[in-house]
Amino acid sequence: MSTPLSTEPEALDSWTGKGGRVTRVVQKFGGSSVADAESIKRVARRIVETKKLGHDVVVVISAMGDTTDELLELAQQVSPQPPARELDMLLTAGERMSAALLAMAIADTGFHARSFTGSQAGVITTATHGNARIIDITPGRIVEALGDDNIVIVAGFQGVSQTTKDITTLGRGASDTTAVALAAALGAEWCEIYTDVDGVFTADPRIVGGARRIPEISYEEMLELAANGAKILHLRCVEYARRAGVQVHVRSSFSAKPGTWVMDSSLITEGPAMEAALITGVTHDRSEAKVTVVGVPDKIGEAARIFETVAFADINIDMIVQNVSVQDASTAISFTLPQSDGKVALDALRAVQGTIGFTDLLYDDQIGKVSIVGVGMRSHPGVSATFFTALANAGINIGMISTSEIRISVVVPAEQVDDAVRAAHTAFGLDGEGEAVVYGGTGR
Ligand code: ADP
Ligand code: ASP
Ligand code: MG
Repeated sequence: MSTPLSTEPEALDSWTGKGGRVTRVVQKFGGSSVADAESIKRVARRIVETKKLGHDVVVVISAMGDTTDELLELAQQVSPQPPARELDMLLTAGERMSAALLAMAIADTGFHARSFTGSQAGVITTATHGNARIIDITPGRIVEALGDDNIVIVAGFQGVSQTTKDITTLGRGASDTTAVALAAALGAEWCEIYTDVDGVFTADPRIVGGARRIPEISYEEMLELAANGAKILHLRCVEYARRAGVQVHVRSSFSAKPGTWVMDSSLITEGPAMEAALITGVTHDRSEAKVTVVGVPDKIGEAARIFETVAFADINIDMIVQNVSVQDASTAISFTLPQSDGKVALDALRAVQGTIGFTDLLYDDQIGKVSIVGVGMRSHPGVSATFFTALANAGINIGMISTSEIRISVVVPAEQVDDAVRAAHTAFGLDGEGEAVVYGGTGR
């Protein structure tokens, strides 16, 4: 494979004060890589191998296994609507546990390690609990600890609000974003994301056993995959990486296989040759629901009032379809949104039913979105025809369609999502030899 980066860079920045040739590497290990005590020790050994090569190592760690889900369930048992501030206090404990345990395991190998919370590591965020954004990184304590020859362990997915000084979380799966943000702030040469599969594949290996590893993928395509359900990388991590120019190496913590490099498209050298590949990957998302507003008066401004109402409730919508009105001068408008926002959206719309004058509201969370992504579709006609024909041949009815320049998405019944992913994967010639191994995790 091509080597996207030299492993012997010039001195990267002034943070160390060493003035010499220092290679800093940020490594992130996901929850499935540290699910139990044995795994923590295995990961510790792997980290130490990197340290032995002479690199400065900063590790970002996720909570063990399904800890975050379990903490959320516990909170639900105590209170149906826990205050967001307290929920963040609770959830950040998961990463804090694994960070301390990992530091202990590294210490046992004879190397020095120090663990830090996000706040201690200088991850400064907005004040929005549950979905805070990183606005600054002040890594003074990390740099100091590296200077004292420590392996630095940072609890992922968390920070501290610049304004309220409260502890925040960055959204589910956001340890990836912590890692890339630290890599950028520390001038690390690249960011390694260790997980339970061998890289980014042409489809989720849990669904398509014959999915193929993508050796190199552009930020642009990775953004579309991540935005449309491929949870292998957190969306904001890819946005951050593109903005900061950080190359991301996704690989398994369970194998030594080469993984996937996420990088600028101009640097990509390894095929499937960009010219030839029509579709880079197929992705799916089961987290959305569909709202249909029935009997909307067919006159100017009605759609605006509906979507203003949803926007005012702070809800991001995804696809929209408006049916053509037939005889009664009314129409139906359907849109998709995160299932977690369903109740708020319905309450907000019911509150304006009288003023807008629609007749009914329908809600369906038994749907899934399946998307095909690839820069190749820009220059090739007939991609939608191939996709829709494959779905039709598999007996799958399409509920909604949306497109971007390099993506086509459809809404299908939830129970047919897997079939739709497999049908599209086969139709675009992506099926391989069964290279896709899932090493761990529950797929939750
Ligand atoms: P971690 O705990 O390491 O953060 P995640 O569960 O968040 O891991 O992400 C890894 C999972 O992403 C894989 O186990 C796989 O099921 C899923 N996944 C979805 N789409 C893809 C894809 N295109 N390539 C690889 N993995 C994918
Ligand atoms: N533990 C957090 C989650 O499960 C963050 C992460 O794993 O990236 O969402
Ligand atoms: Mg993840």
